[in-house]
Amino acid sequence: VAAIDWASIRADFPLLDREVHGKPLVYLDSANTGQKPGVVIEAVDDFYRRHNANVSRAVHQLGSEATDAYEASRRKLAAFLNVRADELVLCSGTTFAINLVAYSWALPRLKAGDTILVSRMEHHANIVPWQLVAERTGARIKIAEITPDGALDLDALHAAMTPDVRLLAVTHVSNVLGTVNPVRDICRQARKRGIVTVIDGSQALPHRPVDIAAIGCDFYAFTGHKMCGPTGTGALWARREHLAAMPPFIGGGEMISEVSFDGTVYAAPPHKFEAGTPNIAGFIGLGAAVDYLSTIGMDNIEAREQALLAHLAEELRQVDGLRVFGTAPGKAAVVSFLVEGAHAHDLATLLDLEGVAIRSGQHCAHPLLQWLGVAATCRASLAFYNTHAEVERFVAALCKVRKLLG
Ligand code: PMP
Repeated sequence: VAAIDWASIRADFPLLDREVHGKPLVYLDSANTGQKPGVVIEAVDDFYRRHNANVSRAVHQLGSEATDAYEASRRKLAAFLNVRADELVLCSGTTFAINLVAYSWALPRLKAGDTILVSRMEHHANIVPWQLVAERTGARIKIAEITPDGALDLDALHAAMTPDVRLLAVTHVSNVLGTVNPVRDICRQARKRGIVTVIDGSQALPHRPVDIAAIGCDFYAFTGHKMCGPTGTGALWARREHLAAMPPFIGGGEMISEVSFDGTVYAAPPHKFEAGTPNIAGFIGLGAAVDYLSTIGMDNIEAREQALLAHLAEELRQVDGLRVFGTAPGKAAVVSFLVEGAHAHDLATLLDLEGVAIRSGQHCAHPLLQWLGVAATCRASLAFYNTHAEVERFVAALCKVRKLLG
């Protein structure tokens, strides 16, 4: 295998060249949103300059070009994830995708006495929709707890899969702890007990090869903007039998085959769930992102990020009073931390003045932070386009601001 030229890959990302507060930018907030390579920006630009038209409506040339390109992106995503294209509902991202499951699958089915099992480490996008369903149906929510190092407690999880549990919502990779959950085993256990599984893939797809068919879940939700694609793109993968049985969530144009005031016949899935004009340019950009990631290879991306993470862990040993949240083996390149005596927001603000972009706060995971017993953390998240020099610049800046804060 030819060695990968990571310096030239980094040069594909125009934004990473800029300065912030007079310092070269060190972008360590890719878990929040990822940066975009030139090929993605150009694909969006080219669509608006040369092909812009609505999809699935017009017979004219531009209309068919737009439709073909939009549907080609769906097929690229499907191949990337090892699923069928007609099982991928394109939508604005993970939040929409999980709400689609909540409103179309769960709401009509769940009732008082049923339980929704949700892990402690979920993002609010995989908690709040279930609370909305629970409020309306009388179902209750049970929490799958975690171990001190930030892994899912698998014994407790299996024990929690009691006969009243209808649905299990769990993230593939934690956006705070970096924990990679054994979703394949979890889904196998759930399936044996007739529990439907919803996997949040937001933080997995950008960083590792994902074969949804092999995971064996019922639903897999993800977002395009963390995997080099434009914002406002994402998808829900669902088993065909679920899509066939689920009523539409949002009604309107592009999701019907016939409408009259006597009744409406919906289009076949996945279009049944894609009412209205979609983010066409965004999905064309996401198709370009999938091509781009596939060319590098997700195995290579994972290995690169693991090497950067190991370097970061080594460098962080020189920071006095550092507390890292999430140390489960095999974790992804996300490091949540606090430094004794310093507020998370103060650290992030001073690091920004050094050109280093990290996130501070609760990372849309209040229940997890409550469990950790902290009001906020700092989070540095890496991507393959980061460099070893940036890892060192970040830790040097952290040592500097730590001194400033006393
Ligand atoms: N789940 C996880 C684990 C996430 O990290 C995020 C994004 N921070 C989301 C869900 C929500 O994604 P989006 O805002 O793109 O819908």
